[in-house]
Amino acid sequence: MRILMIYPEYPDTFWSYKHALPFVNKKSALPPLGLLTVSSLLPEDWEKKLIDLNVCKLKNKDIEWADMVFISGMIVQKQSTLEIVERVKSYNKFIVAGGPLFTTAHAEFSNIDCFVLNEGEITIPLFLEDLKKGEIKPVYSSQEKPEMSQVLIPDWSLIKMKDYASMPVQISRGCPFNCEFCDIIVINGRIPRFKTPEQVIAEFNALYNSGWRGNVFIVDDNFIGNKNKAKLILAEIAIWMKKMGKPFILNTEASINLADDKELLELMQRSNFNSVFVGIETPEEEGLISCGKTQNTNKDLVEKVKIIHRHGMQVSAGFIVGFDTDTVNTFDNMIKFIQKSGIVTAMVGLLNALPETQLYKRLQDTGRILKTSTGNNTDATLNFTPVMDKDLLIEGYNKVLNSIFRTKNYYKRTMTFLKDYKKCTRDNNLTIDTKLRALTIAFWKLGIAGHGRRGFWKMMIWTTFRRPQLLAEAVTMAIYGFHYRAVMSDKR
Ligand code: SF4
Repeated sequence: MRILMIYPEYPDTFWSYKHALPFVNKKSALPPLGLLTVSSLLPEDWEKKLIDLNVCKLKNKDIEWADMVFISGMIVQKQSTLEIVERVKSYNKFIVAGGPLFTTAHAEFSNIDCFVLNEGEITIPLFLEDLKKGEIKPVYSSQEKPEMSQVLIPDWSLIKMKDYASMPVQISRGCPFNCEFCDIIVINGRIPRFKTPEQVIAEFNALYNSGWRGNVFIVDDNFIGNKNKAKLILAEIAIWMKKMGKPFILNTEASINLADDKELLELMQRSNFNSVFVGIETPEEEGLISCGKTQNTNKDLVEKVKIIHRHGMQVSAGFIVGFDTDTVNTFDNMIKFIQKSGIVTAMVGLLNALPETQLYKRLQDTGRILKTSTGNNTDATLNFTPVMDKDLLIEGYNKVLNSIFRTKNYYKRTMTFLKDYKKCTRDNNLTIDTKLRALTIAFWKLGIAGHGRRGFWKMMIWTTFRRPQLLAEAVTMAIYGFHYRAVMSDKR
């Protein structure tokens, strides 16, 4: 059996880093972990090929070669997915689809022959069993949540690692919290399930033996969803990192209560984490309560961010406008918070009601849903009727973006971060050639030809004299800023 796996193209979004990747000669931020893991679940004697449209083109001969085509993707990749499906169907090939896009909205895809939904460790064996019998059903779905011990090591042989800026590893699935807008808890559940420490080390070894050195993104919904289990795994990772000479630099997603646990922070430091994404959502207590983000309430959130910065991890964060409790003051409050906290990578999005979330149900019950979400919460489109006047909301949203990504504010915020940040990791493992390339393009595009040259040089000079050990971070943040401004200006 010949299986062609296709991963749809990302649009130009905040997290695509499409404008930053050429600085370091990379084509995409991350390979498709879902398809690589699915590949390991398929029979070993099947031939498999992966076409990730973010790094290469889909050729007609690839489609002709295949007996079956597997597609996976997220909501944000819907447009590219529809185009792929149409093209593959013109060759009369059998299409199997799975992953978040289809798990929450498969009814919208009429051209697909078979959906293998929810978690593949449960549904793929059911599909394979029926395939053997020649009795494939149109939908395989299960609410059963598999133990993470059933999750196999991804099939790294399907990709060219050098195309990517980072490699993904999944250690846990699920999050114990209950944010109203979150679709992760719909897909992966609220009881965090973890791999064993032995499994994680085996996966790190597999990645290492495949030749990877550099950034590894722990793609968990909330890496500290069960702090005790996270600590057990971190203790083993810390030992492995020391033994192997810290070949990976880790980053992940975690809830803000990370800042309350010194032991956890220190273990992450020893395990070579250098950044963490945190959902802050809004600095306003009423907004946090209204969306069920109770883990962020009754806290000095700026101080919590700074605690994490002081432990060697840069905080990047998600913010949302459009909550029912938002007022005209929310926008200025958010700008002030972001500037004061030194969160350089602040992803501010409009609230989106994603399919099957508690938010979607509440808005649907009150007749406020307008259309399906695009999955891109920075494209300035609303899929529901907000409480605040819609134009006022969009205007306020644009005001936040204009302010925080204005070069003057962006570089000022970067300096706030650099003042607090206690670097613990080594510089990333980019080659000297790549570092020189990044530096040269950055100096040209940001310091000579681009907007905000004054702010760029002010930050570079300040860093050179006050925090010389953080020059690599300063240049990296400047490159990210170039990407954020490009994405944000395209969308408005
Ligand atoms: S903390 Fe994050 S992953 Fe957990 S429920 Fe809230 S938004 Fe979802």
